[in-house]
Amino acid sequence: MREYSKSNYRDIPLFKDVNDSDWNAWKWQFKNTIRDIPTLKKIITLSEKEETNLEKSLGKFRMAITPYYASLMDREYRRDVIRLQAVPRIQELDTAPDDRDDPLHEDVDSPAPGLTHRYPDRVLFLVTHICSMYCRHCTRRRVVGDHDVHLPKDQLQLGIEYIKRHREIRDVLISGGDPLTLSDDQLAYVLDHIREIEHVEIIRLGSRMPVVMPQRITDDLVNMLRKYHPIYLNTHFNHPAEVTHEAKEACARLADAGIPVGNQTVLLRDVNDCPNIMKKLMHELLMIRVKPYYIYQCDLSVGISHFRTSIAKGMEIMENLRGHTTGMAVPTFVVDAPGGGGKIPVMPSYMISQSDRRFVLRNYEGVITTYTQPKNVFSTCGRCKICDDERYKPLDGVAKLLNGEKMCLEPQELVRRKRI
Ligand code: SF4
Repeated sequence: MREYSKSNYRDIPLFKDVNDSDWNAWKWQFKNTIRDIPTLKKIITLSEKEETNLEKSLGKFRMAITPYYASLMDREYRRDVIRLQAVPRIQELDTAPDDRDDPLHEDVDSPAPGLTHRYPDRVLFLVTHICSMYCRHCTRRRVVGDHDVHLPKDQLQLGIEYIKRHREIRDVLISGGDPLTLSDDQLAYVLDHIREIEHVEIIRLGSRMPVVMPQRITDDLVNMLRKYHPIYLNTHFNHPAEVTHEAKEACARLADAGIPVGNQTVLLRDVNDCPNIMKKLMHELLMIRVKPYYIYQCDLSVGISHFRTSIAKGMEIMENLRGHTTGMAVPTFVVDAPGGGGKIPVMPSYMISQSDRRFVLRNYEGVITTYTQPKNVFSTCGRCKICDDERYKPLDGVAKLLNGEKMCLEPQELVRRKRI
């Protein structure tokens, strides 16, 4: 059986006297989260300049590092991948020309507090502004880390009422902040209300707890969550160094409770912008029963430009995954469109050319091959009850062009229309 490294917290003077039951208790981890420079200096070495820079950048976006995650940091090495994700750097004060507070227009597309309704059949519900750790690359830094508050009940209720009124919503993604910073009872309150809405089919949770505070994934929590099936959890591993014994145990608890766990990695400069690191990460995730789901191009949020890579790097990573390893290990690489266009998949092209008889394709080895299309075959779909069911018809987009409901899609600001 494969051995995973354990946190060596007893080697850190600050934690050497902590007993196991405290260390393994999520409330202890939460209470002892590292939020100030003097405590951080008891764990890692900081030069005078780093300390000054850190102090300056703290004014912009707070620091919070769980003792567990801090224990994974290298004490001396400044480019350590855990440290880069957890400890603020002076570059956070920079604003690149295209940076935006809310690049994904989550607030713009928000019909109720904390709720974003962008895609036709699903909503994002931000139920808290609190996280156990403030990741330095966080795309939602405009809302998290500012005030340590969960969404008040009256505002939660407005979101729930909105979901009730919109029968097209079949999927609710509960996120934040980190929704697992809520107590089990608080989370059960939200889940109760959402689960009783008849048209909601699936509930998803977005949480980084399995990575930064695996102690939060307790038996009590998973026993509570399993009452609301089908329920899924997406987490956020960015590097193989995060796949520890503790993280594996947390993910096993979720999987054993029948909660499928997916992973959303953010492509980060100096952390995981390497095809080999990414391949190792995907393999490690499958080993702990976590399905790689997305690799995100880093968003255009303010203060994180030092983490961004080119989209081309993501393409190179995908070229190194598809075909080179099991398809289960290949996530979708997406650019979350600035301005609220949603996730747009980006991948190398495998189609080389086409005629009305043949498709010319290439595989991962560079082999070029053809697929001969059947002659005069048109789909006969459109004849069964499922095709008559409004719930499965596209609400908008290119799919409507394909089914003939629309002939063209036009931008709102089409200049020639204004001439009429
Ligand atoms: S856990 Fe998620 S929301 Fe919280 S700081 Fe990290 S990336 Fe942002």
